[in-house]
Amino acid sequence: MNEGHSAFLAIERIRLLMAEHNMSFEEALDASRNNNVFTTHTSVPAGIDLFDVGLMHEYFRAYCNEAGIAFEQLLALGRRHPGDGNEPFSMAIAAIKTSAYRNAVSRLHRQVSQHMWEGLWPKLPVWEVPITSVTNGVHLPTWINGDLAGLYDQYLQPDWREGHADPKVWDQIADIPETELWEAHRRRKRRLITFVRERAAASAMERKAPAAEVKRMQEVLDPEVLTIGFARRFATYKRATLIFRDLPRLKRILTNPRQPVQIVIGGKAHPLDVPGKTLIREIVQHSRDAELVRHIIFVEDYSIQVARELVQGVDLWLNTPRRGEEACGTSGMKAGMNGILNLSILDGWFDEGGEASGGWAIGDREPYSPDRDDAHAAGIYSMLEDEIVPLFYEGREQGVPLEWMRRVKQSLQYLSVNFNCQRMVAEYRSQLYEPAHRGYEAVSRDHFAHPRQHVRWTRTVIEKWPYVSFIDSGIGPQPAVSTGSPVPLRAAVELAGLGPQDVRVEAVVGRVGADGELEDTQILTLAPLEQKGTMFTFGRDFAPFNTGRLGYSLRISPNHCDDPLNRPCNALMKWAGEK
Ligand SMILES: *Cc1c(COP(=O)(O)O)cnc(C)c1O
Repeated sequence: MNEGHSAFLAIERIRLLMAEHNMSFEEALDASRNNNVFTTHTSVPAGIDLFDVGLMHEYFRAYCNEAGIAFEQLLALGRRHPGDGNEPFSMAIAAIKTSAYRNAVSRLHRQVSQHMWEGLWPKLPVWEVPITSVTNGVHLPTWINGDLAGLYDQYLQPDWREGHADPKVWDQIADIPETELWEAHRRRKRRLITFVRERAAASAMERKAPAAEVKRMQEVLDPEVLTIGFARRFATYKRATLIFRDLPRLKRILTNPRQPVQIVIGGKAHPLDVPGKTLIREIVQHSRDAELVRHIIFVEDYSIQVARELVQGVDLWLNTPRRGEEACGTSGMKAGMNGILNLSILDGWFDEGGEASGGWAIGDREPYSPDRDDAHAAGIYSMLEDEIVPLFYEGREQGVPLEWMRRVKQSLQYLSVNFNCQRMVAEYRSQLYEPAHRGYEAVSRDHFAHPRQHVRWTRTVIEKWPYVSFIDSGIGPQPAVSTGSPVPLRAAVELAGLGPQDVRVEAVVGRVGADGELEDTQILTLAPLEQKGTMFTFGRDFAPFNTGRLGYSLRISPNHCDDPLNRPCNALMKWAGEK
């Protein structure tokens, strides 16, 4: 399920299993979860569909009646608190509750998603919320420009297209002469400029602009000038107007007579997105400013074709989201694979790929707040003034800017192999789709014997859980242990009639950080050692390899699944010492 919009399919799968295999709602949910995979692409709660109860009733009453699903049962799937009659139905929560696998689309987005959804696993620390990540990638053969592909045909192994996910393919980037790479890029840039001029002139004619303006559009942009590209949907979190924040300073940079700069901006806002449309209007106004008219051009009607020309033909790709709000972002990958350097906030993919990309990072890894806008804009200006612009113009007398080209090669090499979609698809396959497929094969065996039994088992566990408790936990009064000799971890647990195989007793071990929280944690499973009536002792020896003060906490949970990552929402858990 790609994003929450598709989550009703999980309900239809439940209905089908109930109808075709004579299963209860719980059994069908239990079974179908195993091979549902939910991929979240959102970082902002406002991006999630919520439907109120009345609307759900209107569309699902007949469906539920016919399927034998209690309407309340259905609503509970989309609610954080199932009993709260006022809580609307969340498509994302429904997708999470009906999926055994959930993933975000970059490593930073994983953390953001874990924070967003920690309420669904209230007993787990946020870093353990079972959402993984597969970082997006782009289809390299589609996005790479023909001139560069021609060079690759000449200098890389003949199978570079098929084998482009193999790092070895890209070692030979080093062999491409800088002059050829530079010339290929210049051809691309001239092509972009022709494209922009034709489009801008056509759209000026369409709105019956004066002949002088049409003529001006036919002459915009200079192929010798450092060109910054920015093109995306105009969602406000992307801060499309950040670069205009200090207009006098921007003007000085763009109109520097010896080292001028120009910006091509492409974009589109949803027709109902008023703030997005306001941003576009603002940019168009800037582009008509008498001093900037030769330095800024807005390309209307952002499309794949516009994106293609831009990510293949500019020199520098600008990306300015509020950190934490761009789930991944892919246009910078497309640009980087075409030899365009990135200047970006450390958000989405750039948070994990920025340092090695050959590009430049704006700001740091502090969480975003509106008072950072000025600092981020200033960061862009000073990087342009002090580093980027001089680098681009240096050494032209000899032909090519060598340090710039060194960075371009670094970008081509690093991004082509790490952010292509062959790598992404392989990760989806091995980390999510194949385990999900095997999981479903296992549960569907013998007419779904396992989920039928598992639902009965879950009922028993829920009944007995209030009586499960830690009798004795730990190695003595001191809560922290030192590095060196093995530590015997022990826990005596009252299982209230459950068997040791029904539960998972774990120690969360880590270094005690400055604020008393555990850091660099690992989770160790304890084995049953001894039985006294309904009480069991679990234990294992642990040899710390970290230096410093170590601490640990013990906990017990029902042994739902082989893989704790598949833990259902609101899964039961008790921590030692918890009231
Ligand atoms: C690549 C692409 C996007 C996504 O770009 P982001 O960096 O994620 O904003 C959007 N639209 C088009 C047409 C694209 O080609």
